[in-house]
Amino acid sequence: MSLQNGIHHSQLSTTTFFAPRSSACIAELLPLEPPDLELLGVEDDVELERGLGFVKHFKHYLEGRTFTIYTDHKPLIFAFHQKLDKAAPRQARQLNYISQFSADIKYIKGENNIVADTLSRVTEVSSIDYDQIADAQTQDELKSLQTITSLNLKEYPLPSGKYLWCDTSTSKIRPYIPQAFRKQIFHHIHGLSHPGIKSTIKLMISKFIWPSIKKDVQLWTRTCIPCQKAKINRHTKTKLGEFEVPSGRFCVVHIDLIGPLPPSRGNIYCLTCIVRFLNWMEAIPSDNISADTVARAFYSNWIARFGTPHKLITDRGTQFRSETLQTLSKFCGIKLQHTTAYHPACNGKVECLHRTLKAQNNLSWNDTLPTVLLGLRTAIQEDNNHSIAQIVYGESLRLPGEFFCEPSIRTASEGFSNNLQKQMETVGPRTTRRNSSRHIFVNKDLQNCSHVFQRIDRVRKQLESPYDHSP
Ligand SMILES: [Zn+2]
Repeated sequence: MSLQNGIHHSQLSTTTFFAPRSSACIAELLPLEPPDLELLGVEDDVELERGLGFVKHFKHYLEGRTFTIYTDHKPLIFAFHQKLDKAAPRQARQLNYISQFSADIKYIKGENNIVADTLSRVTEVSSIDYDQIADAQTQDELKSLQTITSLNLKEYPLPSGKYLWCDTSTSKIRPYIPQAFRKQIFHHIHGLSHPGIKSTIKLMISKFIWPSIKKDVQLWTRTCIPCQKAKINRHTKTKLGEFEVPSGRFCVVHIDLIGPLPPSRGNIYCLTCIVRFLNWMEAIPSDNISADTVARAFYSNWIARFGTPHKLITDRGTQFRSETLQTLSKFCGIKLQHTTAYHPACNGKVECLHRTLKAQNNLSWNDTLPTVLLGLRTAIQEDNNHSIAQIVYGESLRLPGEFFCEPSIRTASEGFSNNLQKQMETVGPRTTRRNSSRHIFVNKDLQNCSHVFQRIDRVRKQLESPYDHSP
């Protein structure tokens, strides 16, 4: 045991001297393997006495076992080889006692005697060099600290003779840490088990002081790389992009495919188109979904009737990303836009139409499709009290089976056309609705941070951290 702490061994009684060592020895002896003891290198006599003390203390453990006493005091290893009549009577008695056990004394270099040394040498356990800290303590910050009445700053002598400014207001002496050492000490404390912000702050303020300690520790804990990689934080859930309501009719068109459906007149697929502003829909049956067929069907059934839309929204189906549709869009001046993969809700308008069509659940769907479409176009929409056909044509369509005709002659007055115009102005597209209950969360720092951790969404291997920071 090196006595660097400035405490001379003679100041301590044998029991207190052994106190910290005893716990280490118990830990070593508990397994049922031959235990090793380590002796402290002081003086010959004292060393031997310590050895005897050990053996006596752990007698119940050592009985019937082979053990080795390690010491960094070389002369002691020859103790058993010397002639007992040459030794002092007390030494002879002690050696005699030890030799009753199957003991061996071996030499170990002081620096290799880690177990004993780490317990006796505080500087080995902690890499905090208080001498350097004492040198770096600046007066400017100390003065500002001294103005805080709750603190009680005093100079505390170090073993090296230097003085360290410490706060003694609490039961624990808390050294004042200058700027250069703060992060190092933080890593030292936090790096042991990477506790959370609150625990780290509590740990730090119970041991050290400096101005803004809480703020610094909070920031460093939050930005600790191992913590960020391994701890599951609140995930970023971005808001879904919103399609702005287009200004003109037939401006934005969604198209999609349904199928394969049960064959009806040779058709098993259905290309659906819906215009965002009006909800006017078309469904075009088809026997295949090759890119060429899709482009041709869209051109002849939609573009030929309603003109080219400004924007065409599709999912990521191969037909929609094909060269043919790209060329057609370029040729007609359509902006082609694809929705997010695996997120059909983006193309909600079309998917809604699909549900209605599928709800008919009709094997001869090809024949009933026009009637279903007529029904959809003439149905009064709850939110704006008008049918789709009314919004497109300005008047309601006459349905098959309607017996009472509207009077053919209308009193055409200025007031009527004005009224109609006003009425048409109030009729607009319905605003988009979102029924999902997921909470949107975007970290406020996401906008201006330089790096992000990527969440590993696949099934992780054992002990793999949930976040990754590889590029
Ligand atoms: Zn950490």
